[in-house]
Amino acid sequence: RSNAQKFEFQAEVSRLMDILINSLYSNKDIFLRELISNASDALDKIRFLSLTDKEILGEGDDATLEIQIKLDKEKKILSIRDRGIGMTKEDLIKNLGTIAKSGTSAFVEKMQTSGDLNLIGQFGVGFYSVYLVADYVEVISKHNDDKQHVWESKADGAFAISEDTWNEPLGRGTEIRLHLRDEAGEYAEEAKLKELVKKYSEFINFPIRLWASKEVDVEVPSDEDDSSEEEEKTEETSTEEEGEDDDSEKGEDEDEKKSKTKTVKETTYEWELLNDVKAIWLRSPKEVTDEEYAKFYKSLAKDFSDEKPLAWSHFNAEGDVEFKSVLFVPPKAPQDLYESYYNANKSNLKLYVRRVFISDEFDELLPKYLSFLMGLVDSDTLPLNVSREMLQQHSSLKTIKKKLIRKALDMIRKIADEDPDESNDKEKKDVEESDDNDEKKGQYTKFWNEFGKSIKLGIIEDAANRNRLAKLLRFESTKSDGKLASLDQYIKRMKSGQKDIFYITGTTKEQLEKSPFLERLIKKNYEVIFFTDPVDEYLMQYLMDYEDKKFQNVSKEGLKLGKDSKGKELKESFKDLTKWWKGILASENVDDVKISNRLSDSPCVVVTSKYGWSSNMERIMQSQTL
Ligand code: ADP
Ligand code: MG
Repeated sequence: RSNAQKFEFQAEVSRLMDILINSLYSNKDIFLRELISNASDALDKIRFLSLTDKEILGEGDDATLEIQIKLDKEKKILSIRDRGIGMTKEDLIKNLGTIAKSGTSAFVEKMQTSGDLNLIGQFGVGFYSVYLVADYVEVISKHNDDKQHVWESKADGAFAISEDTWNEPLGRGTEIRLHLRDEAGEYAEEAKLKELVKKYSEFINFPIRLWASKEVDVEVPSDEDDSSEEEEKTEETSTEEEGEDDDSEKGEDEDEKKSKTKTVKETTYEWELLNDVKAIWLRSPKEVTDEEYAKFYKSLAKDFSDEKPLAWSHFNAEGDVEFKSVLFVPPKAPQDLYESYYNANKSNLKLYVRRVFISDEFDELLPKYLSFLMGLVDSDTLPLNVSREMLQQHSSLKTIKKKLIRKALDMIRKIADEDPDESNDKEKKDVEESDDNDEKKGQYTKFWNEFGKSIKLGIIEDAANRNRLAKLLRFESTKSDGKLASLDQYIKRMKSGQKDIFYITGTTKEQLEKSPFLERLIKKNYEVIFFTDPVDEYLMQYLMDYEDKKFQNVSKEGLKLGKDSKGKELKESFKDLTKWWKGILASENVDDVKISNRLSDSPCVVVTSKYGWSSNMERIMQSQTL
């Protein structure tokens, strides 16, 4: 084309496309859901802009926010069209080729190791999946601020962009035309497309329509008799008035018709609606099946692997601030969950206001430590016609956040409550042991391994919910027998007369088990918690007590193991020794030398002061400054 301008794909993008094209990956279906998801995003964007500027939608067809799929069976062209926000020429250049998203190389790497393309959408490169099924792709797009342009590429390292002077004007939006490869012939079948939309795009909140063929019976004249056409017309009117007709007369009419016409099959086309657009969160939680929630999770998370969410919560908040919400605990933590914890404001909650999608980058809805949750909030109270910035200031957000935290913590507690592994109570265990529980078995350990650190960060950051979060805490201890224990279990096992909850911090359980600090405690049958995660040191600076029990680091000053009658006597008789020792060690920065009842075999031990850092904390701080 004469006005075409050529561009080269950014290197990583080019590599990605090469891999996709040559991929032997069998599940090529995924391209359709990626295109539909992009179309839906584009529609969300224009609808959001229209809240503050009504004109922007245009009129008639342009204002119809839906997704249309059309097939040219002969030419093997599949097109997906939306009337979303569209792309300017510059958008086409940037979004589809020259700017690599941060996820591009991460995805390439992942694909090379696992070969699994299912997560492509999570990496922000879903569009390129079109090359699984097409060898030539055209993207025709019209944005309100620009003329209509065509982007095209045969995935040969380059793409071209031209001002569109030959296609039909789109009004606004984007049409993606896939020229299907020979091996991808199945996608030129309506039945296949219908199946895919059902399977993967069930929860798209815009109508998805297919230009579908339909076989209809048509009456045609049975001979060349010219008069029959007029007869047909009269018949039509007579059937409409059916109710008033005399039966016998009608019978005669039909007889007449049969003799002059015959029925033939004819193919007509119409826009067939493929999805049910009623949003899942507007339905009553009782009506929605577990399977539907699991599928909804997949579409939200763009995670089409086989793993189910660990838990979900679907509720309606009523009162001053009304909203509906569905929250999910994903089966796995994303790799970068804690890497960018303090810098990134990442939210996985989508915010809707009265069914209209507002944003998925709204970080006022949940505190950071719960940012691993997926889901959405649909508010009836927030105003629709204000900017995102103004929404961010709105007073009801605080209430929403508070309720969401409560519900989230309840949901997490429920994973533990329903997990038969969690219960140490034998009787309860026997009663609840059933097939139904197989699925729940071990789920809390799974949760803890993936997200335990978030709970700890929560204890540090969220004073208002500290106790609720402490209930969710798990750890190993001298009595946990290789499994995880909770504070409630610890308290149940406390010895009579024991006032404090004992713990020790260090790098590994194995190292701690050999610690002289434990000798006597173990001998006296006290339980001691092992805290081996660096974050635990910080955690214990915030977690002072639980259920009226104080926490005592057994390597610190202040350990009380009940009354020791010989204490005073010993102190007196070793007075000279302790004094002498203190004199010698004073130069080594030792505060005091004392007689102690905390040891049984080792002759002495260095204890840190109550308010200072533990030796483990010193080690952590040292490794951070190095
Ligand atoms: P993601 O959707 O995760 O951003 P994609 O590779 O699927 O990644 O799409 C890349 C970008 O191309 C999108 O972010 C969007 O800006 C643009 N885009 C793709 N399809 C459309 C469309 N139908 N309408 C408007 N923009 C689109
Ligand atoms: Mg996408």
